[in-house]
Amino acid sequence: MKKRIYFDYNSTSPLRPEAMEAMMPYLDSASGLYGNPSSVHSFGQDTRTAVEDARLKVAKLLGASTDEIVFTSCGSESDTTAIKGVAFSAQERKKGRHIITSAIEHDTVLFCCEYLNQNGFDVTFLPVDGGGLVNPDDVRKAIRPETILISIMHANNEIGTLEPIAEIGKIAREREVPFHTDAVQTVGKIPTKVDDLHVDMLSLSAHKFYGPKGVGALYIRKGTRLHPLFHGHHEKNRRAGTENVPGIVGLGVASEMASVEMAQDAKSVAALRDRLEKGIIESIPHVHLNGHPTKRIPNTTNFSFEYVEGEGCVVLLDVEGLAVSTGSACASGTTKASHVLRAIGVPPNVAQGAVRFSLGRLSTGNDVDRALKIIPDVVARLRSLSPLWADKQAGRETKITPAERFVKHPKGLS
Ligand SMILES: *Cc1c(COP(=O)(O)O)cnc(C)c1O
Repeated sequence: MKKRIYFDYNSTSPLRPEAMEAMMPYLDSASGLYGNPSSVHSFGQDTRTAVEDARLKVAKLLGASTDEIVFTSCGSESDTTAIKGVAFSAQERKKGRHIITSAIEHDTVLFCCEYLNQNGFDVTFLPVDGGGLVNPDDVRKAIRPETILISIMHANNEIGTLEPIAEIGKIAREREVPFHTDAVQTVGKIPTKVDDLHVDMLSLSAHKFYGPKGVGALYIRKGTRLHPLFHGHHEKNRRAGTENVPGIVGLGVASEMASVEMAQDAKSVAALRDRLEKGIIESIPHVHLNGHPTKRIPNTTNFSFEYVEGEGCVVLLDVEGLAVSTGSACASGTTKASHVLRAIGVPPNVAQGAVRFSLGRLSTGNDVDRALKIIPDVVARLRSLSPLWADKQAGRETKITPAERFVKHPKGLS
């Protein structure tokens, strides 16, 4: 069988061998490294040392101090802890009930905020522009005396747009509102120093940057008040549960290596992504680039192929050996257009044809070349099955609303 191509790094990334190697002794009981880190005996001390060593590595990557890092089971848990934790703490202290977020957050943040909105809190979902950007002025205007939390993602997982987090953070700080960012798509890809970003809380997930699945972290700036989701004494009372030692060790290694390799990786993956993008634009008519052409993470591109159904495209591409996604992995299986594409003003019929390509460390020029042979062919085959496409070819086109707010890709690609 031909080697399959994986362009779905925003869903998850492969575990890096260095992380696996470091994790193995904590999985293999023969090494004796299976103690509970909370135990007093030497078995416990050994794993405690490993956990604290990993904490230091994560803290370094974020420019934080170790006691500001709480290990969790995933990015979703980190997000939920930040949002519900601050909300319930504010409730207990009889503070306000107003929360500000954006319309394009990851489902975990979106659903958490919708849940709170239906349960006594009042949430403002800020709109974004055609490129997916939140306007910091909108944040400023939305803040009320009773605002207890702002949560805006660092980069969007579907379109890759990078939000002006540092600017929003300054506003939040001026108004003394705790500020959380879901940085699951940026940690390990681009710099995410918490002081540069002016954030009070930041979520990350190991499996999005070559660490293992099922482990994440939440940065909590000293002085930020929040309740735990799981009650108990671990993680300084901030997250109960015996630590996932192998996972945490893997996260530590992924963090340490990211600090070293991030800049070079970003450069090479951006070059591949741009080449893929250019090839698609040049070889396929009626395509749109969704998202912001420049303010975005280096590995992601999102295209709408008109007269094509995104889900069908993903299935056929997979048959040809190219793994991509329609956007959010969690939204797959539903035919509803993505909330992100709707929020940036992509008309429903165009949003339906959206496909996300997200590249990573193991992507090669050869992968891109092969993908550029597969994609135009699959799109042409799908179009040949579309009655709308047949009408268009016969000049009987039912006019598609011009998507004015779309960022159509400029010819010369940077
Ligand atoms: C993947 C992702 C999450 C969820 O992380 P998990 O570790 O899979 O729970 C949250 N936010 C964003 C932006 C993501 O891309």
